[in-house]
Amino acid sequence: MGTITTIAPCGINCTLCHAFQDVKKKCPGCRSTTGIIRKSCLNCAISNCDKKEDYCFECMEYPCKRLKYLDKQYRLKYKMSILENLDYIRQKGEEAFIISQNKKYTCPDCGKLRTVHYDYCIYCKQEKKK
Ligand SMILES: [Zn+2]
Repeated sequence: MGTITTIAPCGINCTLCHAFQDVKKKCPGCRSTTGIIRKSCLNCAISNCDKKEDYCFECMEYPCKRLKYLDKQYRLKYKMSILENLDYIRQKGEEAFIISQNKKYTCPDCGKLRTVHYDYCIYCKQEKKK
């Protein structure tokens, strides 16, 4: 079972993270064993969880308080549910998840992958709303 390394255990797709897309100080992703991972990612409650499951849904405590809190933050700020992400991964697998995410987050104007953290494309800076 080769876990796709750009999906964090919490269900966040690292390729959609602004730190991952940062050209100057690119974060290699939460699961990376090389490169410098962003402090905010290293310090997150899920990264510091001692259960060390491949994905949070494999845990006995799933969904734990910390994960629910993170999910709420992401739903409010970025309109993405990490619990829904985890459900999708559990039901359909990582590859299907990546494909659906790419479809959803590809910028219609420039074709690059948008970040979930901004509501506009950082490449062509246009509001995605139409
Ligand atoms: Zn764009």
